Amino acid sequence: MTHGIDALLSRTHDQWLAAADQLTFETRPFIDGHFTDALSGDTFTSHSPRDGATLAKVQAAGAEDVDRAVRSARGAFEDGRWRDLPPKERKGVLLRWAELIRGHAAELALLDTLEMGKPITESVRIDVDKAAETIAWYAEAIDKTYDEVAPTPGDALALITREPLGVIGAVIPWNYALLIASWKLGPALATGNSVVLKPAEQTSLAALRLAALASEAGLPDGVFNVVPGRGEVAGQALGRHPEVDKIAFTGSVEVARLFQVYAGESNGKQVAVEAGGKSPQLVLADADIEAAASAVAWGIFYNAGQTCNAGSRVVVHASVKDRLLDAVRRITEDTFRMGDPLDPATVMGPLVDENQLASVLGHIERGVADGATVVFGGGRTLTESGGSYVEPTVLDGVVNTSAVAQREIFGPVLAVVTYDGDADEGIRLANESDYGLVASVWTRDVAVAHRAAKRLRAGTVWINTFDASDVVTPFGGFKATGAGRDKSLHAWDAYTALKTTWVNLA
Ligand code: NAD
Repeated sequence: MTHGIDALLSRTHDQWLAAADQLTFETRPFIDGHFTDALSGDTFTSHSPRDGATLAKVQAAGAEDVDRAVRSARGAFEDGRWRDLPPKERKGVLLRWAELIRGHAAELALLDTLEMGKPITESVRIDVDKAAETIAWYAEAIDKTYDEVAPTPGDALALITREPLGVIGAVIPWNYALLIASWKLGPALATGNSVVLKPAEQTSLAALRLAALASEAGLPDGVFNVVPGRGEVAGQALGRHPEVDKIAFTGSVEVARLFQVYAGESNGKQVAVEAGGKSPQLVLADADIEAAASAVAWGIFYNAGQTCNAGSRVVVHASVKDRLLDAVRRITEDTFRMGDPLDPATVMGPLVDENQLASVLGHIERGVADGATVVFGGGRTLTESGGSYVEPTVLDGVVNTSAVAQREIFGPVLAVVTYDGDADEGIRLANESDYGLVASVWTRDVAVAHRAAKRLRAGTVWINTFDASDVVTPFGGFKATGAGRDKSLHAWDAYTALKTTWVNLA
């Protein structure tokens, strides 16, 4: 972390409140290097879930605005103003951009926290700092990535080169708006593509600021456009646009499937999908219970459970279940202080909006109706704030086939499933899900751990830890969770096509 980021982490609640008062919001689409009024004339209101206050009226891009953005991106791609720059120059622009992101960390973090309610220290540490790190990591790869020469006979030379795909439509959710944007923008721009980004309705403001900073860093006009807008309007227009070569999507399974339909009904564009999860933490009888309990609490209550890879399902051996839940309760009470997300002492903020709050409470109600018991939590809290806060909640006695164990709740609600057979029984229950994003296994037996890791059907499996990650490892899921991977050099491949050039040397 840089000195500037460290300094922000020691700011007080009053300092953040004062900084929030000074903020101004850019609410227009960013197209062809400039902020410009949406032709649609439509707007939507951005509310803050910390207190329900209105933040801004955002201009909602319509199909005609998306078309302007895509045409600008296509023009920039075709004339080579970005992809044909010498690698060192492209690297320099993206490194400058990463530095500008860090230099504007307070502003970007505030926009994120005000719009979605994430505790401010996490917006600084994760959304802003990790987004900058991701952009810089891909920038550094630009002049360190080589193409290939195939092993042909001596009378031929065959080159295998990676070429940018063209125009990428990036469609992202609200839970880690800047970080997930960087997972798409880093590799897409580093490999020479142009991008049109459609942020989620709940979090448009930081994404718009990101585009202005890219321009300031020297990214040529048209290479990166942002179209805030409604999913079914702007998202759909991007998904169906014939000049878009690939959709890079993160969000729910339901919307991911719509993008596959849009692609099939338009130009057959590629669709990479990173969707939801109902990720299990498998706690075997010989596990280190204190360590597992801490990971279970952080795995579900971090970001108020609004994390795609939340450990929302615990599959625990009956002999250690009570000890585990006692420890989870203690750690939650000691650690997850709820409150205003602008207060650096807050560890758990509100849910993103009232719709999400109603949906989460509905899941809890359904779980109880299906026979689960509430160990702690279960209700709305801090109502006097006007914000959308739900208590950390643990549901015990959950049947693995019931809705509360199978549906993604996307809130601070843990479903506890107990088994009393051997490790195979635990693995079977952990795998009994349509999703396959991440999983963990907790055991002191290294052979059992590896056997379980091999059999758990998930894009990432953690052994005796949870949510450890870095830009250097790929991230994505099996089964309904998705196709394609973000992060690492594997994402580099995702934004390029292989070209073979065969030269006759005879
Ligand atoms: P969402 O699917 O509702 O929305 C995602 C994006 O799609 C938004 O930009 C939205 O405006 C757009 N959209 C919505 N309806 C659309 C439509 N009809 N046509 C075109 N676009 C449309 O998801 P969300 O509520 O923003 O985010 C939560 C979901 O994201 C959860 O399921 C979570 O698991 C998932 N997620 C996955 C990952 C991952 O890497 N696997 C990461 C973060 C979040």
